[in-house]
Amino acid sequence: MGFAGANERATAVMGAGPGGLATGYWLSKHGVPVTVLERAPVVGGLARTVERDGFKFDLGGHRWFSKVDEVNDFYKEVIADETVWVRRISRIYFDGKYIDYPLNVTNALAAIGPVKATKAMADYGRARVEQKLRPRPIRSMEDAYVDQYGRTLYELFFERYSEKVWGRPCAEMSGDWVNQRTKGMSLLTAVKDAIIPSKGAVQSLIESFMYPRYGYGRLSERMAEGVRAAGNEVRLGWGVKQVNRRGNHIESVVIADAQGREEIVEAAEFVSSIPLTVLCQIMAPAAPAEVWRRPSSSSSAT
Ligand SMILES: Cc1cc2nc3c(=O)[nH]c(=O)nc-3n(C[C@H](O)[C@H](O)[C@H](O)COP(=O)(O)OP(=O)(O)OC[C@H]3O[C@@H](n4cnc5c(N)ncnc54)[C@H](O)[C@@H]3O)c2cc1C
Repeated sequence: MGFAGANERATAVMGAGPGGLATGYWLSKHGVPVTVLERAPVVGGLARTVERDGFKFDLGGHRWFSKVDEVNDFYKEVIADETVWVRRISRIYFDGKYIDYPLNVTNALAAIGPVKATKAMADYGRARVEQKLRPRPIRSMEDAYVDQYGRTLYELFFERYSEKVWGRPCAEMSGDWVNQRTKGMSLLTAVKDAIIPSKGAVQSLIESFMYPRYGYGRLSERMAEGVRAAGNEVRLGWGVKQVNRRGNHIESVVIADAQGREEIVEAAEFVSSIPLTVLCQIMAPAAPAEVWRRPSSSSSAT
């Protein structure tokens, strides 16, 4: 049996990605006994940095950006001394040409040629008129991009890119993400901005961002150091195999290492940052069927 289950605030956190570690770090800072349980031999989850032949690589380009001061203050508290400011350059490689991202309309229309450019403008115009005459709610990522850029530009520049990044069809993902990231941007604002450049009218993603000098994974490593410095544990190589629940309350978890050794961990509180799909599958007794049934694409798109 592991962990200080006797302490009424003792907390077990499942997963040592940035989410689980931020929880562990924060609780440690406030004097709560914490154990972070991580299946992998390293911290960082999807935002870890791996080293090969003396070079460090992030798993997918990561950058720190938040509009919330409290969140930025947290980042600085953890890793300000290792942080550098990096100028952001994102471009789409299209048909042998680079196009600025967020979409620079002059670039983009020139790259796709006059025929497609005319079609892009026409179907953007049509989408705007239809939205004025018969407004419909913007629900999916597809709805949001088509609303902002028209179907031609959506299909050329956003559809496959988004599906590659997120691994799901745009029609099944929420439009909120687009609205949050490209607030105030549309083909119309981009055209206006190309004709009369405005100061901040087009709120682009970000011009520059904070980044830990030795890789994004350092953020997680520093949080893990904070957890340990408070006398708490980050147990690497111990995956949660079973979550024992009584009704809606989790009582303990069974963890296992690569050698097949098992332990039971009890705590007063449990926080999960492991994939929800995994969490649902390892509940004992099993979660009700409606909890883990995969939504059909038609129902999630509406
Ligand atoms: C290509 C790409 C680019 C991104 N770019 C950015 C960016 O620029 N800026 C940004 O802020 N975010 C970015 N993100 C998102 C960011 O990576 C995630 O939001 C973040 O990693 C989520 O952290 P998390 O701790 O919630 O989950 P995860 O990072 O997924 O961590 C979950 C942890 O749980 C562990 N785990 C899983 N199952 C078990 C189990 N049974 N028992 C114990 N442990 C388990 C995993 O090993 C993992 O360490 C990007 C993501 C991708 C894929």
